[in-house]
Amino acid sequence: MFCFQCEQTAACKGCTGKMGVCGKKADTAELQDQLTGALIGLARAVEGRENRVTMRTDQLILEGLFTTLTNVNFDDEMFRELIARVGLEKERLAPVCSAGDYAGSGCDDYDMKKLWEADEDIRSLKSLILFGIRSVAAYAYHAAVLGYCDAEVQRFFYKALSAIGRDDFGMEELLPIVLEVGEVNLKCMAMLDEANTKTFGHPEPAEVSLTVEKGPFIVITGHDLYDLKCLLEQTAGKGINIYTHGEMLPAHAYPELKKYSHLKGNFGTAWQNQQKEFADIPAPVLFTTNCLMPPKASYGDRVFTTEVVSFPGLTHIGAEKDFTPVIEKALELGGFAEDQQFTGINGGDKVMTGFARNTLLSVADKVVEAVKAGAIRHFFLVGGCDGARMGRNYYTEFVKQTPADTVVLTLACGKYRFNDLELGTIGGLPRLMDIGQCNDAYSAIQIAVALAEAFGCGVNDLPLSMVLSWYEQKAVCILLTLLHLGIKNIRLGPTLPAFVSTNVLNFLVEKYGIAPITTPEEDLKAILGA
Ligand code: SF4
Ligand code: SF4
Repeated sequence: MFCFQCEQTAACKGCTGKMGVCGKKADTAELQDQLTGALIGLARAVEGRENRVTMRTDQLILEGLFTTLTNVNFDDEMFRELIARVGLEKERLAPVCSAGDYAGSGCDDYDMKKLWEADEDIRSLKSLILFGIRSVAAYAYHAAVLGYCDAEVQRFFYKALSAIGRDDFGMEELLPIVLEVGEVNLKCMAMLDEANTKTFGHPEPAEVSLTVEKGPFIVITGHDLYDLKCLLEQTAGKGINIYTHGEMLPAHAYPELKKYSHLKGNFGTAWQNQQKEFADIPAPVLFTTNCLMPPKASYGDRVFTTEVVSFPGLTHIGAEKDFTPVIEKALELGGFAEDQQFTGINGGDKVMTGFARNTLLSVADKVVEAVKAGAIRHFFLVGGCDGARMGRNYYTEFVKQTPADTVVLTLACGKYRFNDLELGTIGGLPRLMDIGQCNDAYSAIQIAVALAEAFGCGVNDLPLSMVLSWYEQKAVCILLTLLHLGIKNIRLGPTLPAFVSTNVLNFLVEKYGIAPITTPEEDLKAILGA
C-alpha cells in the first residue's frame, strides 16, 4: 500500500506495508485506489457524453470520493460494491465493449500506481487536486442530502478526475486546476451554508453544557446535521437524551435543532481521543461522517455508522434512517445512574458555539468601532483539525497567550484544544468565538470580507492572522480556497503535508507566504510585532 493523504502518515512520508497509522489495512488502501481509478475511468467516459450524465452518475462521484477520505470507511465489502456500481455506470454511459474491457477506448480505469510513482512535483499537484476534491465532495454530499446541488461544482469533479488521469499533464496544466479546487470549494461551501441555514436556521450563540445527565443517552458525532435531526425526531418523548461529539458541537446553535429539549449537551473532545472516551460510557455512539477510529472490542458493539461511514462488524444504518437499533441500545444500556460532570481538556465545564456569519455581521459596526478605538488590536483565526501529534498543544498555548485586546475566532475540531478556556470579553463580545464546523470556513471568509469592506481595505490588510492546523483532506480544500482568495501569510501546522513537494512548497511560500508554525511566543511576536 501507499498512502500519504493525512497528517499522521508514517514518518511524515507515507504509510506503506500492511497497515497505515490510522488502522487502514493494505487491502483497504488498494481497494480505495481501485475505486479512485474507477472514478477516473467514469470521468473519462463522461467526456463527450455529458448529456448522458444523470443524478446517479453525480451521486456515485460524490459517494466514491467522500468514502475515501481519511477515517470514513474501513469496509472492503463496501468498496467492492462501490467499484462494481461505478463500473456499471460507466458501461451505461459508454457501452464501448460489452465484456467490460475498455483498453484503448479512452475511458479505461486509471492505475493509481502511476500517480504514486510519478515525478514528485506532478505527484504533489495531482495529490492536491485529488485530496482537495475528496473533501469538496464531502461538502457537496451533505448539501445534496438537504436537496441542494450545483451543476458547476459537479462538472468540476469530472474535469479534476480526468486531469489526475492525464499522464501528459505537467505543472503548467495542473497548477491552475489546483487553484480551481479552491475556487470550486468556495462555491460548494456557500451552497452547504445555504442548505444548512435554510433548513435549520442561522446559528445563534449557544452555551453548551458538558454534563451528561442520568438516564439513557446517545452520542452522535460527525458533520451531518440531517442525521442529527432524524435522530432527534425519532428519540423525542422516549426518555433518551442526545449529546453531540466532535464536529457535531455547532449543531447546538441551529434553531431547528436546538428546539429539541433532549439535545442536552456535548460529550468528549476531538476525534483522536475517542478510543479512550467511548470505552466506558453506558451509551451507544452514532458516526455520521469521519473521523472514525477502529473501535476497540470493549465498545465496538455500541458503535453505529450511517451514510458513507462503515467499519467491518459494526451495525450500519441504511438510507431509510431507521435508528431503532441505536435507540434500543441506548435503552438497554440505560446511561449513567447519576449526572456526570465532564470537562474540556483545560478543566472548563461548558463551551460556547454559534458565532457564525449572521451573528458576527449583525454586530459588525460594534467590532469596527472597537478596532478603530483601539479596544481590539488584532483578530486570530485559530482553526482546523485536531490530531494526536504531540506538538499540537501549540494551539492551546497560542490561544492562552493571545493578549487581552485580541479576539480569537475558531472552527473545526482543533478548537477542543482550547474551547473550554475562559478568555473574557471585549465590548460585550466573547474574546473566543466558535464559528462552527470545518465547512463553516465559508462563514469565516464572509466575516473577513465584510470587515475588509468596512475598513475599505483588502483581507490581507486587516489586523487578522490565520493560524491553521490540518489533519485530513478537508483542510486541504479549505487551504486552497484561502489561496484562491489571495489570502497570504497563513501559518500551518503541526507539520507540513508530506504530499507537498519542495518545488510546490517553494511556490506556495513565494506566492502566498505560507509558513510553518514555530512556537506560540515567536509566532505571536512576529504577528503582533512586540
Ligand atoms: S489515511 Fe493517513 S494514516 Fe491512514 S494510511 Fe493514509 S496516510 Fe496513513
Ligand atoms: S475537522 Fe477534520 S479532523 Fe476534525 S473531525 Fe472534522 S474531518 Fe475529522
